[in-house]
Amino acid sequence: MSFDKERLETKLIHASTRGFTEQRTGAVNVPIYLSSTYHQDSFDEYGRFDYSRSGNPTRLALEETIAELEGGARGLAFASGMSAISSAFMLLSAGDHVLVSEDVYGGTYRFITEMLNKFHIDYSFVNMTDLAEVAASVRPNTKVIYIETPSNPCLNITDVEGVVKIAKANGCLTFLDNTFMTPLYQNPIQLGVDVVLHSATKFLSGHSDIIAGLAVTRTEELGEKLAFIQNTFGSILGAQDSYQLIQGIKTLGTRLNQSTASAQKLAAHLAGHPLVEEVFYPGLVYHAGHSIHRRQTKGDGAVLSFRLPNRETAKAFVDNTKLPVFAVSLGAVESILSYPAKMSHAAMPKEEREKRGITDGLLRISVGLEHIDDLIADFSTALQAAEKIQLQTTGVSN
Ligand SMILES: *Cc1c(COP(=O)(O)O)cnc(C)c1O
Repeated sequence: MSFDKERLETKLIHASTRGFTEQRTGAVNVPIYLSSTYHQDSFDEYGRFDYSRSGNPTRLALEETIAELEGGARGLAFASGMSAISSAFMLLSAGDHVLVSEDVYGGTYRFITEMLNKFHIDYSFVNMTDLAEVAASVRPNTKVIYIETPSNPCLNITDVEGVVKIAKANGCLTFLDNTFMTPLYQNPIQLGVDVVLHSATKFLSGHSDIIAGLAVTRTEELGEKLAFIQNTFGSILGAQDSYQLIQGIKTLGTRLNQSTASAQKLAAHLAGHPLVEEVFYPGLVYHAGHSIHRRQTKGDGAVLSFRLPNRETAKAFVDNTKLPVFAVSLGAVESILSYPAKMSHAAMPKEEREKRGITDGLLRISVGLEHIDDLIADFSTALQAAEKIQLQTTGVSN
């Protein structure tokens, strides 16, 4: 009996070193090549590497790893998720139009609304969960449809194959930000997506240490174009961070599977609590996108949001939790509790925020690797404190 060559958990461990095990020493880890330039043996025929902006062996091992995990032709490692995303938008030209999920990541929203007009690239935001609206919003000059699923912070689910079908019918490319799912749970290229983007700062590296971004293209041709943009703009990931990300990827399977199992339990616990008005998690059967999510992914992920009645109860909750760090970001070994109204969506006017369900009582939790019983106990204590505040402010006593 031979092993399953397609099983992601196993690929995660060996993909980076399989083609690379140090020829001379047998080292089991990819060496960190701290070399900006490379000696050329021949006068007029140069080797695979010449200058590390254009290519570095450690970064290449990472790029080949993510390409293999996503099942794409070419992987590229960038200085941040935002540099991967903004570089992908540079595949567009003046006069083009792009359709974007209305609940796209805040940094992506800023790039689109503040930068694209400088290049005379037009954009419109759509409710990507509504395929009829997507189809109706395509213009003759639409060249890209940009998807994020699940989205932040309300975990809205886009039907990826549905959008790809609309894109193909109209001769557009599709880009997908796969940060929340990672290739372990969602393989957008298999669903027909052309460019997969990652903030590798999150689950892929997994330890709240480095800032990194990755892109994977479906075709070699798109990969060549994006590599040209990367080399021209110069926003590459350094060799040391590339090494660290390779190491993070090796434990992704164990980390994300464990955190997802905990997130399921935490979501169920929160959903059963009287003070919690709503829980947003694609693993809950009553989540609006549950069945689509289950059809196109292999896991529900480790991020969920929940709504408390108001700002005061949210504050009491945060003040009384002891385990999660209270911070922006997600996807780490420690649980990370965020307050979207003042963190990821602070720049958005209150009215716009609330239209998107981001009320003053909404909290987001990225579940880490603490024991789930400890997390639930910590959350129960914090919810009790929030209940007390709620009783005081509503004047209802028991
Ligand atoms: C964090 C994040 C980004 C941006 O990535 P950086 O590494 O912070 O530049 C993009 N998309 C999503 C969904 C994110 O969570």
